[in-house]
Amino acid sequence: MLNDCLRRLSHNVKNADIRLYEPLSNWTTFKVGGPADALFFPVTEQDVVSAINAARETATPLTVIGNGSNLLVRDGGIRGLTMCMTPMPKKNSELSSAHVSDDLLVVGASALLSKVASQAKRASLSGMEALSGIPGSVGGAAMMNAGAYDHSMSDVVIGVKTYAKDGSMRVYEDIGIKYGYRTSAMMHDNVVIVQVLLKLKRSGKEAIAAAMDEYTKKRKEKQPLKLPSAGSFFKRPQGNFAGALIEQAGLKGFYIGGAQVSTLHAGFIVNTGGATASDIINLKNHIVEQVEKKFGVVLEPEVKIIGSDTRG
Ligand SMILES: Cc1cc2nc3c(=O)[nH]c(=O)nc-3n(C[C@H](O)[C@H](O)[C@H](O)COP(=O)(O)OP(=O)(O)OC[C@H]3O[C@@H](n4cnc5c(N)ncnc54)[C@H](O)[C@@H]3O)c2cc1C
Repeated sequence: MLNDCLRRLSHNVKNADIRLYEPLSNWTTFKVGGPADALFFPVTEQDVVSAINAARETATPLTVIGNGSNLLVRDGGIRGLTMCMTPMPKKNSELSSAHVSDDLLVVGASALLSKVASQAKRASLSGMEALSGIPGSVGGAAMMNAGAYDHSMSDVVIGVKTYAKDGSMRVYEDIGIKYGYRTSAMMHDNVVIVQVLLKLKRSGKEAIAAAMDEYTKKRKEKQPLKLPSAGSFFKRPQGNFAGALIEQAGLKGFYIGGAQVSTLHAGFIVNTGGATASDIINLKNHIVEQVEKKFGVVLEPEVKIIGSDTRG
């Protein structure tokens, strides 16, 4: 199944970058996660289509990851083919390019939000400032409707080009994107995002730069950026903040193995060194249990937990 899939993929993609048994701890910001049976790095949109088709034709499970900044991969890793939509150093990838046209930015799914925000600033386009510190790819952020400081991707995304797992192209526009809090129609339909169209506003470069600096300062003050994490672990419960509830439950600093509730921001679980995915999941379960017991609120992870517990 997988061998056949890789043969087809290598046949259709010249010099395909495919790594076998690659530890996903290398590709997630949490720095945990077992190996992917096969990790493929697409460079062009056609590479993405080739991977989707090879997986489908050989009945191989296909998992898509972006920059790995909202992921917890279990210790057994991921079976089948994993496609990593992260920008590869030194590769001139169609998927991480961004082009400005008037007040629009056409961006490949693998481009990092930070890079896109810098490009928007250079073009005197405003709208990405609050999102610039989110360490994700544009595809991952568009999928999740990532957001910060009362801004979210839904404010700027007006079109999303995707491929469904049957290989057909599908474009989502405006209200068809169906954005909600950390959800979208693309997430619901389980499609692969290859390109995103952003609509920004003309503004002065200095004002954009000042706003970006201000947001960066806030992040540095409030978030444990020096330790591996996947950002806020839980979604914001209605009318409350996960971090505040976790802190009030007395869990700030609580740890299991190498996983700890951040002493700086209780909404973050951090890897203090050598954490396993099981440590993090056990800590997550303990937090959910304690917060529900004390406040009757059931916290829901924002972080996507994927993969298997064992290699079998
Ligand atoms: C220090 C830190 C701070 C953070 N701050 C914030 C914040 O302020 N706000 C916020 O919303 N998030 C925050 N995050 C979480 C994370 O950066 C965002 O959710 C980001 O949008 C995830 O993008 P990614 O490319 O890393 O996606 P991944 O984590 O790789 O994947 C997330 C999900 O998207 C899917 N996906 C990714 N790319 C694609 C694609 N091209 N096509 C289809 N599906 C895809 C994956 O299958 C997965 O389900 C933070 C994380 C860290 C580590």
